[in-house]
Amino acid sequence: MVSADVLAIAGGKPVRDTFLPYARQWVDEEDIQAVNEVLRSDWLTTGPKVPEFEERVAEYVGAKYAVAFSSGTAALHGACFAAGLARGDEAITTPMTFAASANCIRFMGALPVFADIDLKTYNIDPAEIAKNITGDTKVVIPVHYTGQSCDLDAIHKLAREHDLIVIEDAAHALGAAYKGRRIGALSDMTVFSFHPVKHITTGEGGMVVTDNQEYYEWLKLFRSHGIVRDRDEMVDYHGPWYYEVQDAGYNYRMTDFQAALGISQLKKLDRFLARRREIAARYNEAFKDMPEVEIPYQHPDGESAWHLYVLALNLDRLQVNRRFVYEALCAENIGVQVHYIPLHIHPYYKWLINSNPNICTFEDPSPAPRAEELYRRIISLPLFPAMSDRDVDDVIAAVRKVITRVRKK
Ligand SMILES: *Cc1c(COP(=O)(O)O)cnc(C)c1O
Repeated sequence: MVSADVLAIAGGKPVRDTFLPYARQWVDEEDIQAVNEVLRSDWLTTGPKVPEFEERVAEYVGAKYAVAFSSGTAALHGACFAAGLARGDEAITTPMTFAASANCIRFMGALPVFADIDLKTYNIDPAEIAKNITGDTKVVIPVHYTGQSCDLDAIHKLAREHDLIVIEDAAHALGAAYKGRRIGALSDMTVFSFHPVKHITTGEGGMVVTDNQEYYEWLKLFRSHGIVRDRDEMVDYHGPWYYEVQDAGYNYRMTDFQAALGISQLKKLDRFLARRREIAARYNEAFKDMPEVEIPYQHPDGESAWHLYVLALNLDRLQVNRRFVYEALCAENIGVQVHYIPLHIHPYYKWLINSNPNICTFEDPSPAPRAEELYRRIISLPLFPAMSDRDVDDVIAAVRKVITRVRKK
């Protein structure tokens, strides 16, 4: 709902007549053809396309193994399983992320511990990870927020010192790089998502990549009912029909037609990334001299995949709060979003933290005050490769219009 105040600010005709979403997939005839072919084939699920897609992604990111899942969330769950995360363990992640980054820890009965962010990159701060490591910490799940890589050297150093497993939540970072190396080949496991708002899509889908054969075997087991079909790995053997359940796994498989879509999308990834970078550069150029907003800082160690473009408002220069600016941009038909509501202030995690005082080593009741501070200021602008130059101009015009009207004189 847009308030009367906001409409008065917007005033008259909105910048756009039609609504521009913040993200949208790019699906072309080639993609449709690829899916069509599979629909006419013998295999709808677990055919030849899934392993082909896995190979292509592994090759793209420079990892040895890849296991496709039915979603990024399922892939995160699989990675936590393969890491052996269990009740009594703790896993450290950032609060500035989507629910799945911490929910996957809860799926294993373990406790998520939220380490605060760095206020420049908005990524998890390694010093805050260090503060939160206990004897029970087993896993760290850094998230490459917006597609900008975390300080992986510092995180890996902590992991070596404390014997931790690093699972990168790279849902924002397919095609991103850290110190010249592509995200996906750098930690114990790395997880991607193929949700339609992400870099490439399979409708729903995700993948774990790893160089570790043991993790790879656990991931495959977990994805498909805990069933083993390879005779060498069986405890028993009754005949050619025989398979063996060796754990309580899930059905987290990707279908073959989704994998076909993924293969087709992957061919366009470099083009998608180039367009995302181009749009981000245009936003940076347009907003860099506006004192009312801060453009996203880019650390020289990384090359962002630009999943999101997050503008931070300098609230002391505005007459209004973030909500007002957000609603005013909506009134201009610009599909803005907020990424994210910090996880530790959601009712579920607040409850969890309050009922496990031992999981937060802070004296302060908030485990992540910087994330809360950032949350009050951020707005994500539309960013997706199918945006036209005209769409980009509209976003810039709408931001200028709204900020001009609400800034302190
Ligand atoms: C999208 C996303 C996920 C989950 O991916 P799904 O494929 O939607 O399950 C996990 N973590 C982050 C940071 C994401 O943005």
